[in-house]
Amino acid sequence: MTETKRTTEISELGEFGLIDLLTRDIELKNSSTVRGIGDDAAIIDYKNKQVVVSTDMLTEGVHFNLMYVPLKHLGYKSVVVNLSDIYAMNATPRQITVSIAISNKFSVEAIEELYSGIKLACETYGIDLVGGDTTSSLTGLVISVTVLGEADKNKIIYRSGAKPTDLLCVTGDLGGAYMGLQLLERENEVFKVNPKIQPEFIGYDYILGRQLKPEARKDFKEILNKLEVYPTSMIDISDGLSSEIMHICKASDTGCRLYEEKIPMDNQTKQMAEELNINPLVAALNGGEDYELLFTLPINDFDKIKNDFDITVIGHITEKSEGANLITTGGSEIPLQAQGWNPLE
Ligand code: ADP
Ligand code: MG
Repeated sequence: MTETKRTTEISELGEFGLIDLLTRDIELKNSSTVRGIGDDAAIIDYKNKQVVVSTDMLTEGVHFNLMYVPLKHLGYKSVVVNLSDIYAMNATPRQITVSIAISNKFSVEAIEELYSGIKLACETYGIDLVGGDTTSSLTGLVISVTVLGEADKNKIIYRSGAKPTDLLCVTGDLGGAYMGLQLLERENEVFKVNPKIQPEFIGYDYILGRQLKPEARKDFKEILNKLEVYPTSMIDISDGLSSEIMHICKASDTGCRLYEEKIPMDNQTKQMAEELNINPLVAALNGGEDYELLFTLPINDFDKIKNDFDITVIGHITEKSEGANLITTGGSEIPLQAQGWNPLE
């Protein structure tokens, strides 16, 4: 690369200059945001609604690799993964705070790029950025996002409401984000050996998008209303289907039967898995980052959802004594294991 772009060192602006640069064009959208950035604290007014809060932290080298993740995508994704948790409660996210720790290898322009993704997510989902914190890091980048949302008290959907005979359902398709990551990792290895080789991404736009620009299921509340169904339990799929199912079973004190052949997967996911010699089931069960929703419905609701292309019944809830089991395509029954991605391993 011969291109030289002038970049600004963060020390030229200082902490307050940087905060000002990043936040000066923010316009508040929600009436519940009484006060945003600029005082010692933000002020939120949800009137008679319940407040729902969730936080996630992402660290460089553990949760993302800046070799192949553009900063704008990283900003977008770090917001979306938090919103997903709020939608999984059947609540509506309204405000976020963003805290960053940055090392001196980042320029002002790089952090602006990160914020352009954060702001795009705020636009797309109708969220106000109301505060945060800015500090330095000796090594990599750390981003922590906290999201606040509102919910009607009697409409919140917990993990704990599943009952034996309930249908186990998912939105969308699974395993795509994991296979997208495998593709990016493969091309990154090739690049490290020979930077002149162009990456081969043709035909894999869907799984790359699933990894680099995931979306949260903002639309799902509407879908439920239209179908006139109400989940007994719900969780978002961030760590892989297997561990999310186990969370529902544990919280609801039940078992389950999950059918391998029913797990929805996109063709690109299957194709990439074949190319890399990975069992696509592993991608769906243990891959994670799909940000779809896993939920349970009373069995009597089956007729209402059976023709919805976006919802797939993948199994059902059983008594706890029957355990949580996967029924393979071959017909054997094996205990599910929560092999979801574990950052502390
Ligand atoms: P304090 O000294 O009270 O922590 P700061 O100087 O850190 O205040 O922050 C000033 C204002 O800017 C506050 O409203 C804070 O929430 C906001 N802020 C600080 N860092 C960020 C950031 N990275 N993103 C968004 N808002 C921020
Ligand atoms: Mg501060």
